[in-house]
Amino acid sequence: MGHQHNVPFFDYTKAFLEHEQQILDLTRDVIRRGAFILQRDLQEFESALAEYVGVKHVIGVGNATDAIYMLARAIDLGPGDEVVFCTHTMVATAAGIHFTGATPVPCETGWDHEIDPASVERLITPKTKAIIPTQLNGRCADMDALRAICESRGLMLLEDSAQALGSKYKGLCAGTFGRGGVISFYPAKTLGCLGDGGCVLTNDDEVGRRVRLYRDFGRNDDQEVECWCMNSRLDNLQAAILKFRFQYYDQWIQRRRQIASLYQQRLGDLGKLVLPPGPDDDPDRFDIFQNYEIEANRRDDLQVFLRRHGVGTLIQWGGTPVHLMRKLGFNQSLPFTEELFTRLLMLPMNHFLSDDDVHYVCDIISQFYTK
Ligand SMILES: *Cc1c(COP(=O)(O)O)cnc(C)c1O
Repeated sequence: MGHQHNVPFFDYTKAFLEHEQQILDLTRDVIRRGAFILQRDLQEFESALAEYVGVKHVIGVGNATDAIYMLARAIDLGPGDEVVFCTHTMVATAAGIHFTGATPVPCETGWDHEIDPASVERLITPKTKAIIPTQLNGRCADMDALRAICESRGLMLLEDSAQALGSKYKGLCAGTFGRGGVISFYPAKTLGCLGDGGCVLTNDDEVGRRVRLYRDFGRNDDQEVECWCMNSRLDNLQAAILKFRFQYYDQWIQRRRQIASLYQQRLGDLGKLVLPPGPDDDPDRFDIFQNYEIEANRRDDLQVFLRRHGVGTLIQWGGTPVHLMRKLGFNQSLPFTEELFTRLLMLPMNHFLSDDDVHYVCDIISQFYTK
Protein backbone atom coordinates (compact mmCIF):
# COMPACT_ATOMS: atom_id res chain seq x y z
CA MET A 1 0.00 0.00 0.00
CA GLY A 2 2.58 2.60 -0.97
CA HIS A 3 0.31 5.21 -2.49
CA GLN A 4 -1.84 7.68 -0.61
CA HIS A 5 -5.05 8.28 -2.43
CA ASN A 6 -7.73 10.81 -1.50
CA VAL A 7 -11.39 9.94 -1.66
CA PRO A 8 -13.42 12.74 -0.11
CA PHE A 9 -16.94 11.91 1.03
CA PHE A 10 -18.33 14.47 -1.39
CA ASP A 11 -16.64 16.97 -3.68
CA TYR A 12 -18.66 20.15 -4.38
CA THR A 13 -15.97 21.55 -6.66
CA LYS A 14 -16.07 18.46 -8.87
CA ALA A 15 -19.86 18.68 -8.97
CA PHE A 16 -19.57 22.23 -10.33
CA LEU A 17 -16.67 21.66 -12.72
CA GLU A 18 -18.49 18.75 -14.38
CA HIS A 19 -20.61 21.27 -16.31
CA GLU A 20 -18.98 24.59 -15.43
CA GLN A 21 -19.46 26.31 -18.78
CA GLN A 22 -23.07 25.20 -19.25
CA ILE A 23 -24.02 26.32 -15.76
CA LEU A 24 -22.38 29.72 -16.21
CA ASP A 25 -24.09 30.14 -19.59
CA LEU A 26 -27.55 29.28 -18.32
CA THR A 27 -27.05 31.47 -15.25
CA ARG A 28 -26.20 34.42 -17.48
CA ASP A 29 -29.24 33.70 -19.61
CA VAL A 30 -31.61 33.61 -16.61
CA ILE A 31 -30.15 36.83 -15.18
CA ARG A 32 -30.34 38.64 -18.54
CA ARG A 33 -33.99 37.65 -18.81
CA GLY A 34 -34.59 38.92 -15.29
CA ALA A 35 -36.43 35.66 -14.67
CA PHE A 36 -36.06 35.16 -10.94
CA ILE A 37 -39.34 34.24 -9.26
CA LEU A 38 -42.04 31.80 -10.47
CA GLN A 39 -40.86 31.87 -14.07
CA ARG A 40 -40.76 29.55 -17.07
CA ASP A 41 -37.71 27.50 -16.00
CA LEU A 42 -39.47 26.55 -12.78
CA GLN A 43 -42.61 25.46 -14.61
CA GLU A 44 -40.58 23.45 -17.10
CA PHE A 45 -38.63 21.75 -14.35
CA GLU A 46 -41.80 20.97 -12.38
CA SER A 47 -43.36 19.38 -15.50
CA ALA A 48 -40.26 17.34 -16.32
CA LEU A 49 -40.12 16.02 -12.77
CA ALA A 50 -43.85 15.22 -12.68
CA GLU A 51 -43.52 13.16 -15.82
CA TYR A 52 -40.42 11.35 -14.54
CA VAL A 53 -41.89 10.45 -11.17
CA GLY A 54 -45.35 9.74 -12.55
CA VAL A 55 -47.26 12.21 -10.40
CA LYS A 56 -49.88 14.84 -11.20
CA HIS A 57 -48.45 17.84 -9.35
CA VAL A 58 -44.92 18.96 -8.57
CA ILE A 59 -44.59 22.23 -6.69
CA GLY A 60 -41.10 23.69 -6.31
CA VAL A 61 -40.46 25.19 -2.88
CA GLY A 62 -37.63 26.64 -0.81
CA ASN A 63 -36.42 23.35 0.72
CA ALA A 64 -37.73 19.92 1.69
CA THR A 65 -38.34 20.89 5.31
CA ASP A 66 -40.78 23.60 4.25
CA ALA A 67 -42.22 21.06 1.80
CA ILE A 68 -43.03 18.64 4.66
CA TYR A 69 -44.63 21.43 6.66
CA MET A 70 -46.76 22.66 3.73
CA LEU A 71 -47.79 19.12 2.84
CA ALA A 72 -48.77 18.35 6.43
CA ARG A 73 -50.74 21.59 6.60
CA ALA A 74 -52.46 20.82 3.29
CA ILE A 75 -53.94 17.63 4.77
CA ASP A 76 -55.12 19.59 7.83
CA LEU A 77 -52.79 18.13 10.44
CA GLY A 78 -52.87 20.26 13.56
CA PRO A 79 -52.97 20.39 17.37
CA GLY A 80 -54.11 17.12 18.96
CA ASP A 81 -53.04 15.01 15.98
CA GLU A 82 -50.24 12.47 16.13
CA VAL A 83 -48.00 11.48 13.23
CA VAL A 84 -45.71 8.44 13.47
CA PHE A 85 -42.22 8.84 12.02
CA CYS A 86 -39.03 6.80 12.18
CA THR A 87 -36.11 8.47 13.99
CA HIS A 88 -33.36 7.39 11.60
CA THR A 89 -34.13 10.55 9.66
CA MET A 90 -33.27 14.20 9.55
CA VAL A 91 -34.86 16.32 12.26
CA ALA A 92 -36.64 18.01 9.33
CA THR A 93 -39.21 15.19 9.12
CA ALA A 94 -40.38 15.86 12.66
CA ALA A 95 -39.97 19.65 12.38
CA GLY A 96 -42.30 19.82 9.37
CA ILE A 97 -44.98 18.02 11.40
CA HIS A 98 -44.28 20.02 14.57
CA PHE A 99 -44.94 23.40 12.94
CA THR A 100 -48.50 22.40 12.05
CA GLY A 101 -49.12 21.97 15.80
CA ALA A 102 -49.34 18.17 15.45
CA THR A 103 -47.14 15.83 17.50
CA PRO A 104 -44.45 13.76 15.77
CA VAL A 105 -44.33 10.30 17.44
CA PRO A 106 -41.00 8.44 17.15
CA CYS A 107 -40.91 4.79 16.07
CA GLU A 108 -38.21 2.20 15.44
CA THR A 109 -36.01 1.70 12.40
CA GLY A 110 -35.95 -1.80 10.89
CA TRP A 111 -33.07 -4.06 9.81
CA ASP A 112 -32.85 -2.36 6.40
CA HIS A 113 -32.61 1.13 7.98
CA GLU A 114 -36.18 1.97 6.86
CA ILE A 115 -39.20 2.55 9.09
CA ASP A 116 -40.32 -0.61 10.96
CA PRO A 117 -44.04 -1.24 10.22
CA ALA A 118 -44.47 -3.41 13.35
CA SER A 119 -43.24 -0.53 15.50
CA VAL A 120 -45.61 1.86 13.71
CA GLU A 121 -48.57 -0.40 14.57
CA ARG A 122 -47.65 -0.51 18.25
CA LEU A 123 -47.61 3.30 18.46
CA ILE A 124 -51.00 4.00 16.90
CA THR A 125 -53.47 5.68 19.26
CA PRO A 126 -56.91 7.22 18.72
CA LYS A 127 -55.08 10.51 18.02
CA THR A 128 -52.92 9.12 15.21
CA LYS A 129 -53.81 10.76 11.90
CA ALA A 130 -50.90 9.94 9.63
CA ILE A 131 -47.67 8.01 9.09
CA ILE A 132 -44.63 9.60 7.46
CA PRO A 133 -41.97 7.06 6.47
CA THR A 134 -38.59 8.39 5.38
CA GLN A 135 -37.47 6.71 2.15
CA LEU A 136 -33.96 6.58 3.53
CA ASN A 137 -30.71 6.35 1.60
CA GLY A 138 -32.59 6.21 -1.70
CA ARG A 139 -34.48 3.03 -0.85
CA CYS A 140 -38.24 2.68 -0.29
CA ALA A 141 -39.68 1.35 2.94
CA ASP A 142 -42.08 -1.62 2.94
CA MET A 143 -44.88 0.32 1.26
CA ASP A 144 -47.30 -2.63 1.10
CA ALA A 145 -47.15 -3.03 4.87
CA LEU A 146 -47.51 0.71 5.49
CA ARG A 147 -50.41 1.07 3.07
CA ALA A 148 -52.16 -1.88 4.72
CA ILE A 149 -51.78 -0.23 8.14
CA CYS A 150 -53.12 3.07 6.78
CA GLU A 151 -56.11 1.36 5.17
CA SER A 152 -57.05 -0.76 8.15
CA ARG A 153 -56.58 2.06 10.68
CA GLY A 154 -57.91 4.93 8.59
CA LEU A 155 -54.64 6.87 8.51
CA MET A 156 -53.14 9.18 5.91
CA LEU A 157 -49.75 8.41 4.36
CA LEU A 158 -47.14 11.10 3.67
CA GLU A 159 -43.56 10.44 2.57
CA ASP A 160 -40.29 12.11 3.42
CA SER A 161 -38.76 11.07 0.12
CA ALA A 162 -36.14 13.86 0.32
CA GLN A 163 -33.42 11.26 -0.44
CA ALA A 164 -35.33 9.16 -2.93
CA LEU A 165 -35.98 10.87 -6.26
CA GLY A 166 -36.80 8.06 -8.69
CA SER A 167 -36.50 5.27 -6.11
CA LYS A 168 -39.17 2.65 -6.80
CA TYR A 169 -41.17 0.04 -4.95
CA LYS A 170 -43.18 -2.35 -7.15
CA GLY A 171 -42.95 0.09 -10.05
CA LEU A 172 -44.14 3.20 -8.19
CA CYS A 173 -41.84 6.08 -7.35
CA ALA A 174 -41.15 7.31 -3.84
CA GLY A 175 -43.38 10.24 -3.01
CA THR A 176 -46.41 8.92 -4.90
CA PHE A 177 -47.81 6.28 -2.52
CA GLY A 178 -50.04 8.41 -0.33
CA ARG A 179 -51.35 11.96 -0.08
CA GLY A 180 -47.98 13.44 -0.99
CA GLY A 181 -44.22 13.36 -0.71
CA VAL A 182 -41.25 15.70 -0.83
CA ILE A 183 -37.88 15.84 -2.58
CA SER A 184 -34.81 17.82 -1.51
CA PHE A 185 -32.42 19.51 -3.92
CA TYR A 186 -29.84 20.25 -1.21
CA PRO A 187 -26.43 20.31 -2.98
CA ALA A 188 -25.33 16.83 -1.81
CA LYS A 189 -28.59 15.11 -2.72
CA THR A 190 -28.70 12.90 -5.84
CA LEU A 191 -30.13 15.86 -7.76
CA GLY A 192 -28.65 18.93 -6.10
CA CYS A 193 -28.87 22.64 -6.88
CA LEU A 194 -26.45 25.41 -5.86
CA GLY A 195 -28.13 26.21 -2.57
CA ASP A 196 -31.43 25.22 -0.98
CA GLY A 197 -34.35 23.81 -2.92
CA GLY A 198 -37.12 21.24 -2.67
CA CYS A 199 -40.52 20.25 -3.96
CA VAL A 200 -43.82 18.65 -3.04
CA LEU A 201 -45.17 15.72 -5.08
CA THR A 202 -48.87 14.90 -4.99
CA ASN A 203 -51.62 13.26 -7.03
CA ASP A 204 -54.25 15.10 -4.97
CA ASP A 205 -55.57 18.24 -6.74
CA GLU A 206 -56.63 19.95 -3.51
CA VAL A 207 -53.29 19.27 -1.80
CA GLY A 208 -51.53 20.62 -4.92
CA ARG A 209 -53.69 23.74 -4.97
CA ARG A 210 -53.09 24.43 -1.30
CA VAL A 211 -49.31 23.94 -1.44
CA ARG A 212 -49.20 26.41 -4.36
CA LEU A 213 -50.95 28.95 -2.13
CA TYR A 214 -48.75 28.21 0.87
CA ARG A 215 -45.49 28.75 -0.97
CA ASP A 216 -46.52 32.21 -2.17
CA PHE A 217 -48.08 34.18 0.72
CA GLY A 218 -51.45 32.49 0.18
CA ARG A 219 -51.93 34.17 -3.20
CA ASN A 220 -54.02 32.40 -5.82
CA ASP A 221 -53.81 32.87 -9.60
CA ASP A 222 -55.85 36.09 -9.32
CA GLN A 223 -53.32 37.43 -6.77
CA GLU A 224 -56.01 37.30 -4.10
CA VAL A 225 -54.76 36.22 -0.65
CA GLU A 226 -56.74 33.22 0.61
CA CYS A 227 -55.00 32.43 3.91
CA TRP A 228 -52.05 33.29 6.20
CA CYS A 229 -48.88 31.95 4.61
CA MET A 230 -45.15 32.29 4.41
CA ASN A 231 -42.94 32.59 1.36
CA SER A 232 -41.13 29.44 0.23
CA ARG A 233 -40.55 29.24 -3.51
CA LEU A 234 -37.93 27.39 -5.52
CA ASP A 235 -35.82 30.11 -7.19
CA ASN A 236 -36.14 30.16 -10.95
CA LEU A 237 -32.34 30.18 -11.29
CA GLN A 238 -32.06 27.04 -9.16
CA ALA A 239 -34.85 25.47 -11.21
CA ALA A 240 -32.96 26.27 -14.42
CA ILE A 241 -29.83 24.58 -13.02
CA LEU A 242 -31.88 21.59 -11.85
CA LYS A 243 -33.61 21.27 -15.20
CA PHE A 244 -30.21 21.22 -16.91
CA ARG A 245 -28.72 18.68 -14.50
CA PHE A 246 -31.82 16.51 -14.61
CA GLN A 247 -30.99 15.29 -18.12
CA TYR A 248 -28.02 13.39 -16.62
CA TYR A 249 -29.97 11.98 -13.71
CA ASP A 250 -30.53 8.44 -15.00
CA GLN A 251 -26.85 8.18 -15.95
CA TRP A 252 -25.82 9.32 -12.47
CA ILE A 253 -28.11 6.83 -10.76
CA GLN A 254 -26.82 4.04 -12.96
CA ARG A 255 -23.28 4.90 -11.89
CA ARG A 256 -24.30 4.93 -8.22
CA ARG A 257 -25.79 1.47 -8.65
CA GLN A 258 -22.57 0.21 -10.27
CA ILE A 259 -20.60 1.56 -7.33
CA ALA A 260 -22.96 -0.19 -4.91
CA SER A 261 -22.37 -3.47 -6.77
CA LEU A 262 -18.64 -2.97 -6.56
CA TYR A 263 -18.80 -2.29 -2.81
CA GLN A 264 -20.90 -5.41 -2.43
CA GLN A 265 -18.45 -7.57 -4.40
CA ARG A 266 -15.47 -6.26 -2.49
CA LEU A 267 -16.88 -6.00 1.04
CA GLY A 268 -19.47 -8.78 1.09
CA ASP A 269 -17.04 -11.54 1.99
CA LEU A 270 -15.24 -9.65 4.72
CA GLY A 271 -17.74 -10.88 7.30
CA LYS A 272 -17.26 -7.81 9.45
CA LEU A 273 -19.82 -5.46 7.93
CA VAL A 274 -23.54 -5.39 7.28
CA LEU A 275 -24.04 -3.94 3.80
CA PRO A 276 -27.19 -2.43 2.33
CA PRO A 277 -29.06 -4.73 -0.07
CA GLY A 278 -27.33 -4.75 -3.48
CA PRO A 279 -28.92 -3.04 -6.48
CA ASP A 280 -30.23 -6.32 -7.93
CA ASP A 281 -31.09 -8.16 -4.72
CA ASP A 282 -34.80 -7.30 -4.57
CA PRO A 283 -36.96 -7.41 -7.71
CA ASP A 284 -39.60 -5.23 -5.97
CA ARG A 285 -37.24 -2.30 -5.51
CA PHE A 286 -35.16 0.09 -7.56
CA ASP A 287 -32.79 1.82 -5.13
CA ILE A 288 -31.03 5.02 -6.16
CA PHE A 289 -28.28 4.89 -3.50
CA GLN A 290 -28.43 8.45 -2.21
CA ASN A 291 -26.15 6.98 0.45
CA TYR A 292 -24.19 3.79 0.96
CA GLU A 293 -24.77 3.21 4.64
CA ILE A 294 -23.09 0.21 6.23
CA GLU A 295 -23.06 -1.24 9.75
CA ALA A 296 -19.54 -1.72 11.08
CA ASN A 297 -18.06 -3.24 14.22
CA ARG A 298 -15.60 -0.81 15.87
CA ARG A 299 -17.18 1.88 13.71
CA ASP A 300 -15.41 4.87 15.29
CA ASP A 301 -11.97 3.28 14.94
CA LEU A 302 -12.74 2.36 11.34
CA GLN A 303 -13.74 5.93 10.59
CA VAL A 304 -10.47 7.27 12.03
CA PHE A 305 -8.45 4.65 10.12
CA LEU A 306 -10.17 5.59 6.85
CA ARG A 307 -9.62 9.30 7.50
CA ARG A 308 -5.91 8.69 8.15
CA HIS A 309 -5.77 7.01 4.75
CA GLY A 310 -7.51 9.88 2.96
CA VAL A 311 -11.03 8.44 2.83
CA GLY A 312 -13.93 10.63 3.92
CA THR A 313 -16.93 9.00 5.59
CA LEU A 314 -19.93 10.42 7.38
CA ILE A 315 -22.17 9.36 10.25
CA GLN A 316 -25.68 10.40 9.30
CA TRP A 317 -27.43 13.05 11.44
CA GLY A 318 -24.24 13.54 13.47
CA GLY A 319 -24.95 10.11 14.99
CA THR A 320 -28.08 11.14 16.91
CA PRO A 321 -31.51 9.69 16.09
CA VAL A 322 -34.24 12.31 16.37
CA HIS A 323 -35.84 10.84 19.52
CA LEU A 324 -32.57 11.37 21.41
CA MET A 325 -32.67 15.11 20.67
CA ARG A 326 -34.05 15.58 24.17
CA LYS A 327 -34.25 19.36 23.95
CA LEU A 328 -37.04 18.89 21.42
CA GLY A 329 -39.14 17.26 24.15
CA PHE A 330 -38.81 13.60 23.16
CA ASN A 331 -38.48 11.10 26.02
CA GLN A 332 -38.90 7.74 24.26
CA SER A 333 -36.39 4.94 24.15
CA LEU A 334 -36.04 2.92 20.95
CA PRO A 335 -33.54 0.15 21.74
CA PHE A 336 -33.09 -1.28 18.24
CA THR A 337 -32.48 2.16 16.73
CA GLU A 338 -30.11 3.18 19.52
CA GLU A 339 -28.01 0.02 19.10
CA LEU A 340 -28.01 0.43 15.31
CA PHE A 341 -26.73 3.99 15.66
CA THR A 342 -23.51 2.76 17.29
CA ARG A 343 -22.65 0.93 14.05
CA LEU A 344 -23.82 3.16 11.16
CA LEU A 345 -21.32 4.66 8.76
CA MET A 346 -21.68 6.07 5.25
CA LEU A 347 -18.96 5.33 2.69
CA PRO A 348 -18.30 7.69 -0.24
CA MET A 349 -21.14 7.34 -2.78
CA ASN A 350 -21.49 9.69 -5.72
CA HIS A 351 -21.15 9.45 -9.47
CA PHE A 352 -17.70 11.10 -9.50
CA LEU A 353 -16.06 8.06 -7.88
CA SER A 354 -13.89 5.97 -10.17
CA ASP A 355 -13.61 2.20 -9.82
CA ASP A 356 -10.10 2.83 -8.49
CA ASP A 357 -11.50 5.08 -5.77
CA VAL A 358 -13.93 2.38 -4.69
CA HIS A 359 -11.23 -0.33 -4.74
CA TYR A 360 -8.99 1.91 -2.65
CA VAL A 361 -11.73 2.46 -0.03
CA CYS A 362 -12.32 -1.31 0.10
CA ASP A 363 -8.58 -2.03 0.39
CA ILE A 364 -8.31 0.25 3.41
CA ILE A 365 -11.37 -1.33 5.05
CA SER A 366 -9.94 -4.82 4.49
CA GLN A 367 -6.64 -3.68 5.95
CA PHE A 368 -8.40 -2.35 9.03
CA TYR A 369 -10.11 -5.65 9.78
CA THR A 370 -7.14 -7.92 8.97
CA LYS A 371 -4.39 -5.94 10.69
C1 LIG B 1 -32.07 16.38 3.20
C2 LIG B 1 -33.23 15.84 3.96
C3 LIG B 1 -34.28 16.64 4.42
C4 LIG B 1 -34.25 18.13 4.36
O1 LIG B 1 -34.09 18.66 3.13
P1 LIG B 1 -33.82 20.24 2.98
O2 LIG B 1 -34.10 20.48 1.53
O3 LIG B 1 -32.40 20.46 3.35
O4 LIG B 1 -34.77 20.94 3.87
C5 LIG B 1 -35.35 16.04 5.02
N1 LIG B 1 -35.40 14.72 5.20
C6 LIG B 1 -34.41 13.91 4.80
C7 LIG B 1 -34.54 12.44 4.99
C8 LIG B 1 -33.29 14.44 4.19
O5 LIG B 1 -32.29 13.63 3.83
